Amino acid sequence: MNTMSNIQSTTAKLLINGQFIESKTQNWQDIVNPATQEVLGRVPMATTDEVDAAIAAAQAALKTWRVTPIQVRMRIMLKLQDLIRANMKKIAAVLTAEQGKTLADAEGDIQRGLEVVEHACSIGTLQMGEYTEGVARGVDTYTLQQPLGVCAGITPFNFPAMIPLWMFPMAIACGNTFVLKPSEQDPLSTMMLVELAVEAGIPAGVLNVVHGGKEVVDRLCTHQDIKAISFVGSTAVGTHVYNLAGQHGKRVQSMMGAKNHVVVMPDANKEQTLNALVGAAFGAAGQRCMALSVAVMVGESKEWIGELVEKAKTLKVNAGHEPNTDIGPVISSRAKARVTDLINSGVEQGATLLLDGRDVVVQGYEQGNFVGATIFDQVTTDMRIYKEEIFGPVLAIIHVDTLEQAIELINANPFGNGVGLFTQSGAVARTFQNEIDIGQVGINIPIPVPVPFFSFTGSRGSKLGDLGPYGKQAVQFYTQTKTITSRWFEDSHESTGVNTTINLR
Ligand code: NAD
Repeated sequence: MNTMSNIQSTTAKLLINGQFIESKTQNWQDIVNPATQEVLGRVPMATTDEVDAAIAAAQAALKTWRVTPIQVRMRIMLKLQDLIRANMKKIAAVLTAEQGKTLADAEGDIQRGLEVVEHACSIGTLQMGEYTEGVARGVDTYTLQQPLGVCAGITPFNFPAMIPLWMFPMAIACGNTFVLKPSEQDPLSTMMLVELAVEAGIPAGVLNVVHGGKEVVDRLCTHQDIKAISFVGSTAVGTHVYNLAGQHGKRVQSMMGAKNHVVVMPDANKEQTLNALVGAAFGAAGQRCMALSVAVMVGESKEWIGELVEKAKTLKVNAGHEPNTDIGPVISSRAKARVTDLINSGVEQGATLLLDGRDVVVQGYEQGNFVGATIFDQVTTDMRIYKEEIFGPVLAIIHVDTLEQAIELINANPFGNGVGLFTQSGAVARTFQNEIDIGQVGINIPIPVPVPFFSFTGSRGSKLGDLGPYGKQAVQFYTQTKTITSRWFEDSHESTGVNTTINLR
């Protein structure tokens, strides 16, 4: 396994039919530490032949894997969760080096994925079908949840541990084989998890990995042997993947971009609310799909904005591996330029810049892609900083007078990933949860990502496809329901004659 001491100049390997192999491509991309610009390794843009070989290996392995007893599949997941737990710190160090988030947050990234592996250990009950005896005389109906076939997963840079673990453990536990295409920006920690999956006993061909960008993704979306695609990433790419794979007859789930609001009622617990807002807006440098982007201050809660800014000022910007860091770098210099451009647009379009993170310089890491906590007040819905996903540590504040106005504002926003409400009133919370049109709602919780025995249920512009990742919905996504209606005759059974109606008797 790669560790911090030997990731330098490493290359991300392909995994095809149980072998970790070097790509033969001429097209490579650097993997860069966002705090230092140090090149940590290189990732190949795999050739079409390599992608096809990975899919062929998955197709060949399917024959035996789909009939491998469910307890065997389950035991591999039990072993995998044990190995991930034992290697947590090593993986976190690599994840921080290539992604930039703090070590504590890197462990959180792995932990949230580990919980999905733990849940996959219950596949014996999760994949159970249904049975009704006696739907007509002597007739029973039951369902089987059968594996779909070869499935593929395409993952983003912001959770290189959690999101691959949303996908391949559940797909494989259900009896499918899998081709994973990790983010090309930070594939090294993902590959450490894949190495552990092989060590846990996932047989050759059941899990395969290819690296690359658009060409590799498009090949996965159009190849006849792929039955389902799970995508997590930006709205533009997610829409493309959904359309392309859909046109080629695949089952697709596309979890995409977001603009998450939190509504602050004047009766909320002030201290808890402000702490939650600061953590949710600026943690992971704002690079979470459930990060808080917009605080909607209702009525007198606007009096708290000064204290919010003071709290945000205390956050320490530094490299993720340094102690006490609150905000690490954003993923690339291109991402930093984009965030800075959006902050500039906020100023130009007339929002009030209360805290400016543009000119942060971190001693010892002067080349890092750092942006400090940034807060805009008096934001309006026509501004770019309101309309576009910034994916950086930038919080926009909007003022309204009533809960109804807050709900109307949020429901008019096209995204539907997450929303929060801070209040002490159960009645207000109940109205909010009923009337808000967002797939994941937090009541006094700023980032309401469900635990793995529920499912991730972002909605509207943040998602395409009906079923979400992990939880029971993932079992439905990765299986085909087959419904059997059966009748058995004794030799002595009296004939009822020919029946030309649709009724069973
Ligand atoms: P991205 O869309 O740039 O990349 C995602 C994947 O798509 C990567 O594997 C990448 O290699 C591939 N890709 C990139 N360009 C492509 C193209 N033109 N054609 C085909 N494939 C392409 O996303 P990102 O920047 O890595 O991740 C950040 C985005 O992901 C944000 O928008 C964030 O909100 C979103 N996200 C959503 C969720 C969710 O559950 N809704 C979770 C995490 C991240």
